Amino acid sequence: MKKYDYLIVGAGLFGSVIAYRLKQMGKTCLVIDKRPHVGGNIYCENVDGINVHKYGAHIFHTNNKQVWDFVNSFVPFNRYTNQPVANYKGRLYNLPFNMNTFYQMWGVTTPDEARQKIESQRYKGEVHNLEEQALSLVGTDIYERLIKDYTEKQWGRSCKELPSFIIRRLPLRFTFDNNYFNALYQGIPVGGYNRLIEALLDGIDVQLNCDFFDSSSTANQNHSASCIDFVELKFLHPALTVNCEPLTVNHLKDSWQSIASNLVYTGPIDQFYDYTFGHLQYRTVRFETETLPTNNYQGNAVVNYTDSATPFTRIIEHKHFEELVVAEREEPKTVISREYSTEWQPGMEPYYPVNDEANNSLYEKYVELAKAETNIIFGGRLAEYKYYDMDRIVELALSVNL
Ligand SMILES: Cc1cc2nc3c(=O)[nH]c(=O)nc-3n(C[C@H](O)[C@H](O)[C@H](O)COP(=O)(O)OP(=O)(O)OC[C@H]3O[C@@H](n4cnc5c(N)ncnc54)[C@H](O)[C@@H]3O)c2cc1C
Repeated sequence: MKKYDYLIVGAGLFGSVIAYRLKQMGKTCLVIDKRPHVGGNIYCENVDGINVHKYGAHIFHTNNKQVWDFVNSFVPFNRYTNQPVANYKGRLYNLPFNMNTFYQMWGVTTPDEARQKIESQRYKGEVHNLEEQALSLVGTDIYERLIKDYTEKQWGRSCKELPSFIIRRLPLRFTFDNNYFNALYQGIPVGGYNRLIEALLDGIDVQLNCDFFDSSSTANQNHSASCIDFVELKFLHPALTVNCEPLTVNHLKDSWQSIASNLVYTGPIDQFYDYTFGHLQYRTVRFETETLPTNNYQGNAVVNYTDSATPFTRIIEHKHFEELVVAEREEPKTVISREYSTEWQPGMEPYYPVNDEANNSLYEKYVELAKAETNIIFGGRLAEYKYYDMDRIVELALSVNL
């Protein structure tokens, strides 16, 4: 078995940027992932020629020119600008809250009129919960139509029971500007996120279907199984060098030193320590994806459903991330995903960390254990138990001391 300088657990964005840097430095590394594809949560599945954001809609946005230039050096990004729309009981409102929204809500046409309207509705008392916090920031109408039910669907709890810190700020824009992000740079990789990850991992050994903790993982034990995967993987990731050599050690957690001198771990930190202090909690999302026989279902990539009668929170129409002008006479086909916010249970995809006091102090206990490790780097959203946007992940991966 080849001895690598680094074993990287997780072929997500963090692990892939680290792998790229190591290759540039002349170090050898093996990247493993328990999923049957690379890319982690930014992976796109090709459905009927449309790149479907399988683990949730991803829009790259950043103010950091170094990060923007870095990702664009692997794949060009398009000019997609996120301009979500909210649907409340069949009426549409632009987001984020701006002069278009205020006009749609009250018919006001000037910033002064909009400010007066909001001021007249703002809650002025002491804030004890999320509801009062939101009412104090934006007043009754915006809260009732665009925040209350949506937030309750997201968290599965009444806004009166949610802590106010969840909504620290609710930006109000007194200009006619629907651009959701205040970022200097924004877009989607032309051809999808897989192109970015495949370019980062080009020439690097990758072993998929390989769980760091699972002693019965087929990739660890069964050569022919991993070779069948290899053929499928060449189809999924044609540009990628996928390592077909099976790992001959079982339970990598206990024996990784036999194949690598250093470890980069991007999986959940509580799992690394066998949940010694208990499970960190997450919120998760269930996606219901379907192909529809129409060219253009909702005219926008993102539509939020902000009323309580609609059980899902958003509908994503994936083609709009890349087809910025939808050709009218194109084949009538589109792919949409309805998103349902769900309570997380062990075994489900951990999406959003619940960074409340209890979970943060649990996380700190794991960090104390991690500090005692040598030759192990913990990084990425799961190992750090933080929600990070992609640009921040790239920044962090570019700055890690290797
Ligand atoms: C629903 C949703 C929407 C988002 N939208 C945006 C957006 O619009 N814009 C934006 O900038 N950011 C967005 N993000 C954030 C973005 O997804 C993250 O910044 C990024 O994916 C983090 O990369 P990562 O490598 O840290 O983690 P991941 O992508 O999760 O990669 C970790 C990898 O480790 C693997 N792994 C874990 N455990 C093991 C194990 N035991 N053995 C082997 N492999 C293992 C996993 O399979 C996974 O592939 C969104 C996040 C979510 C949840």
